[in-house]
Amino acid sequence: RLVGAARAVRIIRRTLQPTTAPNPRLAMSLGEFDLIQHFFTRPVRRSPLGVGDDCALLAPAPGMQLAVSTDMLVEGRHFVSTVAPRRLGHKALAVNLSDLAACGARPLAYTLAFALPRADAAWLGELAAGLHALADEHAIELVGGDTTAGPLNLCITVFGEVPAGQALLRSGAAPGDDLWVSGRTLGDARLALEVLRGTLQLPGDAFEQVRRAMEQPAPRVALGQALRGVATAAIDISDGLLGDLGHVLRRSGAAQASVAQAGSASPAVESHSDTDTSTPATRSAPSGATPVAHAPLGATLFAAELPRSAVLAALSADVQLEFLLAGGDDYELLFTAPPTSANAVRAAGIASTTEVSRIGRIEVEPGVRVVGVDGQVLATPWASFDHFR
Ligand code: ADP
Ligand code: MG
Repeated sequence: RLVGAARAVRIIRRTLQPTTAPNPRLAMSLGEFDLIQHFFTRPVRRSPLGVGDDCALLAPAPGMQLAVSTDMLVEGRHFVSTVAPRRLGHKALAVNLSDLAACGARPLAYTLAFALPRADAAWLGELAAGLHALADEHAIELVGGDTTAGPLNLCITVFGEVPAGQALLRSGAAPGDDLWVSGRTLGDARLALEVLRGTLQLPGDAFEQVRRAMEQPAPRVALGQALRGVATAAIDISDGLLGDLGHVLRRSGAAQASVAQAGSASPAVESHSDTDTSTPATRSAPSGATPVAHAPLGATLFAAELPRSAVLAALSADVQLEFLLAGGDDYELLFTAPPTSANAVRAAGIASTTEVSRIGRIEVEPGVRVVGVDGQVLATPWASFDHFR
């Protein structure tokens, strides 16, 4: 059943007024196409075709590669059912933009697929407001999606562009590179989660502060682009610093081995074509050649250099270290650059008004050693988050 535009506007106005008690009659009146039309159809500026046809059309500039990433948020898994829908909208797009940032890509467009238990206009209006506000901040436009009834989950795909061959990859780190991280509130999102879970308590204002880190992460899009040609490898921290560093160390180790093996092969080509599961070094080894083991690289981290909020710094040293290194949901960039590029990294931080801290270095010896102020190696017994373990 179609709702006339004027009536829909009245419905939306009414439901966006402060009392947002769910109104079952309104929920009934919003069909799939009404809700797409009224909440998720906005004029497109840079894409040739947006919502309303079978496909959207994108037009990356000549010489650019398209960077594509998808992230799904499931109720009870990635967010609690009581989260304010505006914050949920922000976060769903933010975690996707964070992936574009980690590749050094400029955001262009996104699609939104979601399942909803019911079409609650007030809730949808708030969700859309959170999405549209962050989208406007990054000049990215919603060009399509899919809408269905079902248990609440949101899946966003983002599209960005990056000059051909210049994307920041996980695989470019080399021994001797410095390790850097963005931001200054590593671990705060985990802290907020533990307060919600009831395992920790914080005064109200401190909780509000860390809750913002959990619900309103600021994707480091400008920093990612400023690091093109400066950083050798990058990843965004979603599952905890140690776990995500592990991805960089494994992929960079494999890439190094495959470059060593291939001899004259271009490192850029190699690193743009490898995958997590393949073993390019051994598979491409000509018979009789010395097999090159692609051992992961290693790293030393300086615990005292990990940037933390005053709220986290007030907790015990053990809790601090766990949340800093294995907290998750940080959406900061973790990246590497040779020491000779330290000033260029700092300049990228300043140009993008994003704090950057040098927190360690990449080494040949596999494993991650976390050292304290007096040089002692600290125990780090935490695994990073894995949905199926
Ligand atoms: P199809 O049946 O061809 O997949 P749909 O009827 O599902 O198309 O969707 C109609 C149009 O609305 C398409 O352009 C689609 O991209 C868009 N759309 C559907 N759901 C959403 C959404 N949640 N946000 C933005 N656009 C959407
Ligand atoms: Mg469809």
